[in-house]
Amino acid sequence: MKKNDVIPLEITDITGQGSGIGRVDGMAVFVPMTAVGDKINARILKVKKNYAFAKIEELVSPSGRRIEPDCDCYTKCGGCVFRHISYDEELKIKKQRVYDALTRIGGLEDFHMNDIVGGEYPDGYRNKTQIPIGRDKNGAVCMGFYGSHSHRIVGTGECKLQPDDMNAIAKAVRSWVEENGVSVYNEETHTGLLRHLYMRKGFSSGEVMVCLVINGDTLPYKDELVKRLTDLDCGVTSVVINVNKDKTNVILGKTCKTIFGSGMITDELCGLKFNISPLSFYQINHDQTEHLYSIAAQCAELTGNELLIDLYCGAGTIGLSMAKNVKDLIGVEIIPEAIENARENARVNGITNAEFMCADAAKAAAELLKRGTRPDVVVIDPPRKGCDASVIESIASMSPDRVVYVSCDPETLARDLKIFAEKGYITKNVTPVDMFPRTQHVETVASMSRKP
Ligand code: SAH
Repeated sequence: MKKNDVIPLEITDITGQGSGIGRVDGMAVFVPMTAVGDKINARILKVKKNYAFAKIEELVSPSGRRIEPDCDCYTKCGGCVFRHISYDEELKIKKQRVYDALTRIGGLEDFHMNDIVGGEYPDGYRNKTQIPIGRDKNGAVCMGFYGSHSHRIVGTGECKLQPDDMNAIAKAVRSWVEENGVSVYNEETHTGLLRHLYMRKGFSSGEVMVCLVINGDTLPYKDELVKRLTDLDCGVTSVVINVNKDKTNVILGKTCKTIFGSGMITDELCGLKFNISPLSFYQINHDQTEHLYSIAAQCAELTGNELLIDLYCGAGTIGLSMAKNVKDLIGVEIIPEAIENARENARVNGITNAEFMCADAAKAAAELLKRGTRPDVVVIDPPRKGCDASVIESIASMSPDRVVYVSCDPETLARDLKIFAEKGYITKNVTPVDMFPRTQHVETVASMSRKP
């Protein structure tokens, strides 16, 4: 088998990331955007020692599990990977991905695997979008999403994962750019002004923040932009500029300037009000977050007497949603704006038993251990790369009765649960929660108890 060969292939399996697998003489061939049961002619793209990558050259006989993808951009932009199969099928694949990671990478055996919690609305759920702005090969302004594993912008009128309001706002911003001749960013030459359109919506409050990420300090025609956006009737309550003059793939810079409104959104989650600044993390699927937090709360088994540590707490949302059921809460987070939000969020909700530390999780955990802090329960919700081993070491040394791990990456979760197991923490319950329908991503809550 070599590059550019076209071979007949039957898809017999699928990875958790949504790539179909066919086999040739025992060698796995990965073909994205296929379904189990597809018979295809596959064009080989790359051959490794024990496996190969291919793409569909021709769909000879489609699997009965296929559905018609309902987005023009599907397979072009890097967002969705499961639009060609039913949502039920997707949920099964995601649950299996979590199970496989925990057993194969994590070496876990005796845990209880709950069913995956699927989203009621697999479309229109994203409360945040970041749309790159550039030019297409004909020089026209192009806004959309990056192609899979690339920095080429795939222009799209709209995205099904985000609410219609955001699509309407993107359209208005595009007209404003074109009609005023505002310059757009070119990644290669690091010139031009507009880099990204970033939006966030409070699904409970209806408030929308629009943020333009710019390679400069000021935005021309900004009053006109604000007028266009507020005239839209899409709930725009804030317009913000984010300054990012660095030659980097990181979307947001460190400085935000509010040009209209409060500069943040307020939303409600689990019966509490939350202020969320542009630089603070906020879970992107409102309804599924409420499920996620309630599962995390069940795992925490709080009685009202506990000291709870919420590590990687963002704007304080998980810990504050549990605050009335604990004696004391300590939240830790590295982003200063998020910690400011967390303190303010405690105040606006009348929560007085919460303290927040702005620090790196590893340093904070070591510091808390040194102080002799004895938490009963620790909740951790790290970014995709998971926890530093030193964080796990410090948590285990503080010997909480229970640890609740909220994870957006099954593979790093599995790696970390294995380390926890070595430190005497046994994984009991695992619940996948689909926060990101139609994409490859899946969230998981794992509860651990200290070995008696
Ligand atoms: N629990 C929150 C946030 C989870 S996202 C919620 O549910 O909304 C992960 C958070 O970890 C982000 O807010 C990120 O800023 C923070 N973070 C990333 N690296 C960190 C580190 N080394 N130390 C502390 N916090 C970190």
